[in-house]
Amino acid sequence: MKWALIGASTIASQHMISAIRAQEQNDIIALLSSDSARGESYAAEHSIDRAFTDLDALLAEPSVEAVYISTTNEKHFPQAMKAIAAGKHVICEKPLAMSVADACEMVAAADAAQVVFATNHHLRNAGSHLKIREMIEQGELGDVQAIRVGHAVYLPPNLQGWRIDNPDAGGGVIPDIVVHDADTVRFHLQEDPEEVVAIERSESLGKGVEDSVMSVWRMPSGVLVQTHEGFTVQHAGTSFEVHGSEGSVFARNVMTQRPTGEITLRRGDTEVSVPFSTHNLYERSVRKFVEAVNGQGAPAASGIDGVKSLAVATAVKTSATTGRSVTVDYGVL
Ligand code: NDP
Repeated sequence: MKWALIGASTIASQHMISAIRAQEQNDIIALLSSDSARGESYAAEHSIDRAFTDLDALLAEPSVEAVYISTTNEKHFPQAMKAIAAGKHVICEKPLAMSVADACEMVAAADAAQVVFATNHHLRNAGSHLKIREMIEQGELGDVQAIRVGHAVYLPPNLQGWRIDNPDAGGGVIPDIVVHDADTVRFHLQEDPEEVVAIERSESLGKGVEDSVMSVWRMPSGVLVQTHEGFTVQHAGTSFEVHGSEGSVFARNVMTQRPTGEITLRRGDTEVSVPFSTHNLYERSVRKFVEAVNGQGAPAASGIDGVKSLAVATAVKTSATTGRSVTVDYGVL
């Protein structure tokens, strides 16, 4: 399959270009950047044949079958809608859009056009999370009572651009990280958060956007979820805990882009280390997408998964700004 990249981004350069090229018979032949000089140099650096500044011209290329959208967040919706209208399959970065209504429109448009539309939620592709999900599913933890997510990190200096000072581009830690945590919790519990309460803060990096947030979510089953997302925490590492009637899982450094971390299962005073696969997260995400395009199965995270993670993040933002508990609104899907 021939791909085009929409966005000369860091994530494409660091993870997705190699993940696409790791799939047999898949290559990237075109790139869109809003800046012709940056586009030319990015394309040359990554051996991409053609750099475009005009999305319509790129989408008019019949050989392009799929696009990967990784521009800033406010561009995802208009670019995805054009790509879908041109009949391209789409993997779109999170958050899918700036509003749940727009994200629902993207999913509906893709359904109507019969193209595959996926959200690039990488964490559910991690060997660590696949293992934890398997343990929950097989009842090793008994009845799940609570999940705690530690996803407060220090935003690397090279990413301290639009994320920390541009709300119009979708900046802020809630659109950036809460969406991933919402998707991961939904993946593990196979249910959608119902109600959230949250408090946010702009501590040091955030200018006009939040750089820290804590929230508590109630699941329909009654399970409580506690999350902490941040751009300013230097030393915590990340964590994911699942507490059940028959055991607790403590996973460290698993809310990451690389297949790192460790999982410990604790029952009473006994702790055992749990092994898991260390495959590349993004390669699995792209592989599932390519298989879906070929009529085999579904993407790891669908468009609807992207709508739902955005709906949770939107509810967290509303709660943090109103001081009220908020019922999650999943839109019209
Ligand atoms: P970047 O800031 O690296 O890229 C976003 C846009 O910024 C690019 O499309 C590019 O515009 C522009 N840009 C890039 N470099 C420069 C530069 N040197 N000077 C001026 N403009 C520049 O963003 P990220 O790669 O961090 O994030 C992109 C998207 O991917 C976001 O939606 C984010 O939420 C998502 N993301 C997802 C991750 C995941 O694991 N699923 C991880 C990281 C990000 P143009 O294309 O017009 O040239």
